[in-house]
Amino acid sequence: MSKKPPENVKLDPTKRVLFLTKDPELIKKQLAGELDLSMDDVTVDELLDDVNTDAMTPAWVCFDHKPEDIARNAYAGLIVEGERLFPTDALKDGNFEVIVSGYRKGVGSSRETAVQAEKWSGIKIAIAASFAPIHAANNVSQGVLMAGHDVLRRLQAGEEVPLEEFYKHDDPITQLIIRQGGLFPFAKALAAGEIDIPQPEIAERPMSMAEKILARHKLGDGAPYVKPGDAVLVEVDGGYSHEFTTAQVHYFLEQEYGSDYEIKSPGHFAVFEDHLIYAEEVPKLRGFLDKIGTLRELQREFQAHTGVQDFAAREGRSPGICHEVAREKLIAPGEFILATDSHTCMGGCNNALTWGVGATEYANLIHSGFTQVEVPESIRFELTGELSPGVTAKDVMLHLLLHYAKPQKTLNRVMEFTGPGVSSLSMDERATLTNMATECSARGAIVEADESTYDWLLERRPELDREEMRQASVRPDPEAHYDGGVHEIDLGTIRPMVAHPGDPDRGIPSDPTNGATVEEIGEVPIEIAYGGSCTAGKIDDMIFYHQVAKEAVEAGLQVADGVQFLIQFGSAEVEEYSREHGFLATFARAGIRVIPPGCGACIGCGPGVSENPDQVTVSAINRNYKGRSGPGRLYLASPLTVAASAFTGKITAYRPGMFAEMLVPAG
Ligand code: SF4
Repeated sequence: MSKKPPENVKLDPTKRVLFLTKDPELIKKQLAGELDLSMDDVTVDELLDDVNTDAMTPAWVCFDHKPEDIARNAYAGLIVEGERLFPTDALKDGNFEVIVSGYRKGVGSSRETAVQAEKWSGIKIAIAASFAPIHAANNVSQGVLMAGHDVLRRLQAGEEVPLEEFYKHDDPITQLIIRQGGLFPFAKALAAGEIDIPQPEIAERPMSMAEKILARHKLGDGAPYVKPGDAVLVEVDGGYSHEFTTAQVHYFLEQEYGSDYEIKSPGHFAVFEDHLIYAEEVPKLRGFLDKIGTLRELQREFQAHTGVQDFAAREGRSPGICHEVAREKLIAPGEFILATDSHTCMGGCNNALTWGVGATEYANLIHSGFTQVEVPESIRFELTGELSPGVTAKDVMLHLLLHYAKPQKTLNRVMEFTGPGVSSLSMDERATLTNMATECSARGAIVEADESTYDWLLERRPELDREEMRQASVRPDPEAHYDGGVHEIDLGTIRPMVAHPGDPDRGIPSDPTNGATVEEIGEVPIEIAYGGSCTAGKIDDMIFYHQVAKEAVEAGLQVADGVQFLIQFGSAEVEEYSREHGFLATFARAGIRVIPPGCGACIGCGPGVSENPDQVTVSAINRNYKGRSGPGRLYLASPLTVAASAFTGKITAYRPGMFAEMLVPAG
């Protein structure tokens, strides 16, 4: 599908431009062919912001792995008053070549299907005020041009805009990819010696943690230093994909390199069966079980073909969510790891640099062993103090989302966590910090290592060597420059937080940046409490749920009437720990439903999803995008808040001893 774009870009007079406006009626009219807009008709403020990849291609659309099939349901997740704004084939049949939105186009998961849905519907140019980093990279990989509203204004005035206008702000390697028409044509031109990679000039300089890891992995000659904006080819230590994405990786490699393709270092890569493991339990997914079966089958075929590590389900049980298992078993300090999922950033808790990539980039890097990177800027959070009782790392992230991500201070930067406060956080709590970097639209996150990093890893992987890990780990140079600044976060000042579901029908998106303290949201009755996912299915999260459940049970309480409380383990290790420590018995006495390891409600593919728009969920997952976990209204909160709310029946911050206070004294 990819071919080189012309040196001068102009609009095709037989094609149309689609404006994604906040007013859904205007979108409907454009899709129906009753309205054509130009940049003179709308302001940027009238355009939809935060168009997320779940809206562009909701999970069920990704059950297809061929882009042409995916495109038929482009924007199927854009729901207004219970109806799909884009019926099947609407984008394709609209004859559009340009699609226009507001700020932060493509936030959310790393799914490249979002770009494929547009491209295979005929879209050649995406216009937005800003793009989420992974989504932008996926556009580049697929050869879809990106520009701001000023460029569209010129195109609509009939101007031929030089191709350079579409890449002038990009690094030299990205420029080459765009000019070649996408990542596969670029990789082939590189292998054929048709293009040279420019080496950035860089002298010795103090570096952040992320910069140090990239400098170590840089290919080619030159000093072992990098600076933000440098375009470099870097060796990749390892990675993984899961059954939602592997089929595409396999399909693309077969298409590009033939059915006998090989990959570079299969032992360093892995496949996981985690995302769709409980799809059978979701009534609305029953119609997709054949497609889900095909995805599983194609992943097995890929694993057998390549010999990558296999974390498949055995007898219907998953070994766990890929990011949780990867930090337990695959990721070590100082490594550079890429995987086909936006929460790959979670691995940064092990003092590694990890982030999510699309299927095309992943296919390319496992084929060649390296990838291209524009060295990102960094922002540093110097943690001091200690969390108060009842407050967790999740509250810290909801605080950072509100105060740093919302004003875009974390956008496309690596979030680095350093300072004495780090040592007061367990490895699991550090993993919560790094996991939610993607909700901050950050490139990744990395936590400074200490002895507890090595202890935790050695407990799970005795073959590792403490001294080697110390040598491999990175810490920022004292004079390192942070474009996003260095911000002290006193953990003791953080309060229990939620992210509320907004009001998407009135242009207030459901977004993890909708932060508020629990006190601020007033009384919010709930029907579902869910504790699980890669963010909140770890051992410490189970300890949090158990702490609350035990107190409640001892006070004679059960989960509140009319509320379901579901807890899902992040991995087999977490489940085993919970069993050994007697948590399961407490959960059973409290009336909590326990679900084996894997993804599930978090992505609308397991027990715990809402079933109607009026249901309110409080959930310890990482995303509250409308429709992702069912049609209801979803509040994000900490594991402690989720558990406390399950027993009170309304969103409630946990206080140690709160249930004992509710006991009526005898006599
Ligand atoms: S638990 Fe949810 S957020 Fe985490 S990897 Fe699975 S689907 Fe993605």
